[in-house]
Amino acid sequence: MRENIVNSAVNNTDKKRLSLLVPMYNESSVIPIFFETVLKVLEDINYELEVVCVNDGSRDNTLELLKEYAAKDARIKVVSFSRNFGKEPAMTAALDYATGDAIIPIDADLQDPPELILEMLAKWEEGYDVVFARRSSRDTDSRLKRNTALWFYTLFNKMSDTYIPSNVGDYRLMDKKVIDVIRELPEKDRFMKGLFCWPGFKDTTVEYARPERAEGETKFNMWKLWNFAISGIASFSTMPIRAGIYLGLLISAASFVYAIFIITKTIFFGVDVPGYASIMVAVLFLGGIQMFFLGLLGEYIGRIYKEVKNRPLYVVAEKFGFE
Ligand code: UDP
Ligand code: MG
Repeated sequence: MRENIVNSAVNNTDKKRLSLLVPMYNESSVIPIFFETVLKVLEDINYELEVVCVNDGSRDNTLELLKEYAAKDARIKVVSFSRNFGKEPAMTAALDYATGDAIIPIDADLQDPPELILEMLAKWEEGYDVVFARRSSRDTDSRLKRNTALWFYTLFNKMSDTYIPSNVGDYRLMDKKVIDVIRELPEKDRFMKGLFCWPGFKDTTVEYARPERAEGETKFNMWKLWNFAISGIASFSTMPIRAGIYLGLLISAASFVYAIFIITKTIFFGVDVPGYASIMVAVLFLGGIQMFFLGLLGEYIGRIYKEVKNRPLYVVAEKFGFE
């Protein structure tokens, strides 16, 4: 497999270019080992390499370290945000600045094993435009995270027209033509896992076992992931609000049947005063459902509001290593 991609033609000046996109938020503890591992693995590839790192408003010395590395190594490029904007804007920025013919977003913590890049490149050379890296085991995740992730992918794919493969993170290779489509997508709400899949094209998968974080700790707790999941579904499906129509119809139909029942009963058996329980149940139930769908509508309106404001996705404070 490696023969395809390992340096064979020495004086090849128009080599294809590979861009790695690395969002980094407080990653100073992993930066040295990240560069060491990645650059070593990609030492002999027959591509021009560029590593676009985005400092997502880190509060530790991530930026200083990145500056040092960028000064020593022309392949390392750095875009630094004015504050923490989040992983999705960081990846969007990296995409905006990357110039590769193939592009691979990769986490800084080595949970996306760099060795896999060689396999992905080989698949790309075979003619695939997208090469997903699927976690064959999630042993390093808690049971709760594994189960919730599974539910999320199932639910998402039921509700959305865009299919996202399960257990595939942001780690994947994408050809320039896929990236060009993604760059054109105008939305501010960037659920990258979905956006990466939206263009389609010919895809394949390579598998890996997800290792533990090399150093430091995760930036995502359960609450953040929950909100991320809701946001992902809301930006790729309007099925939740459509469900309101069907539920409304169903409840109306049921009420109609019940109304006929009460009217008939009243006509034939007279007025039956007690009814506190049934009234309370109906009022509370309907109140709950209405609030729920109001909330849902609000979620979508909030999204429209965010898009209409049209604020930039990120603010770049400094950048290094670009010509
Ligand atoms: N990250 C980022 N901005 C954030 C949070 C995370 O750029 O606000 C980066 C982080 O530095 C890492 C990647 O996103 O390179 C994945 O984060 P992490 O490893 O914490 O997530 P997990 O692997 O636990 O899902
Ligand atoms: Mg991680």
